[in-house]
Amino acid sequence: MHFSKENVLVTGGSRGIGAQVCRVLAGFGLKVWINYHTSAERADSLKVEIEQAGGRAAVIGFDASDDAAFVQACKTIVEADGGLGYLVNNAGITKDKLALRMSLDDFESIIHANLSSAFIGSREALKIMSKQRFGAVVNVSSIVGEQGNMGQANYAASKGGILALTKSFALEGAPRNVRFNAVAPGFIDTDMTQALGADVRAQYENAIPLKRFGTSNDVAHAIAFLLSDSSQYITGEVLRVNGGLYM
Ligand code: NAP
Repeated sequence: MHFSKENVLVTGGSRGIGAQVCRVLAGFGLKVWINYHTSAERADSLKVEIEQAGGRAAVIGFDASDDAAFVQACKTIVEADGGLGYLVNNAGITKDKLALRMSLDDFESIIHANLSSAFIGSREALKIMSKQRFGAVVNVSSIVGEQGNMGQANYAASKGGILALTKSFALEGAPRNVRFNAVAPGFIDTDMTQALGADVRAQYENAIPLKRFGTSNDVAHAIAFLLSDSSQYITGEVLRVNGGLYM
């Protein structure tokens, strides 16, 4: 795959899907800005790993749901590299509870962490990329954002919101050649799904037509495609990466 621009920022690049996105995009020749929030050591060792493999990487720590911090990070990147070609809004967390037991704070904190961060990043990217008349953003949603899920009213709302957000930004970005797309992963093997019990995991595996959880690599390549020149006529789209679990 070919990429017209040189650099990418990946929020939540320290672990899981985000870390694999960094590896894959560095492999395609992009300079990768690895964002972390709490996992500084993981981000640092990923940078070393990418550089040892011949790639280019930089580490940038900030809370992606902090407006001022995200704005400052984008400024730092533009000052260092002269622009920003691509952004992956990947940072996300869960706080699962049945809705009847979910406090407003439980709800709003997940909306803030997952949806507000994608909004801030998309807005800052649109500002920078509009001036360049080029750019691409991928927002990481979830199967749960389309289907809903028991115990995840907060997370599902945040991920459904990301889909609507992506389409709205796609409309605003299109006249300036800035594309916004989303991926909606199903069940992917990362720290986030480690908490599932063996029996629940087996039930899901049985229900997934491809009969396995996805890997971070499965998602990373879908994201790479949506950023690359190979998808230059695709915007406002949702690419499901779920083994056929939801079609
Ligand atoms: P993970 O292994 O738990 O990693 C989460 C990542 O998000 C970490 O790098 C973490 O950084 C970062 N993060 C969390 N809050 C942040 C914040 N406020 N600012 C910056 N970074 C923050 O999760 P994952 O499975 O890779 O998930 C990545 C994305 O995919 C999430 O948006 C998730 O909702 C989505 N997703 C996952 C699955 C799945 O089955 N795993 C399915 C669908 C969608 P630190 O460790 O540095 O704090």
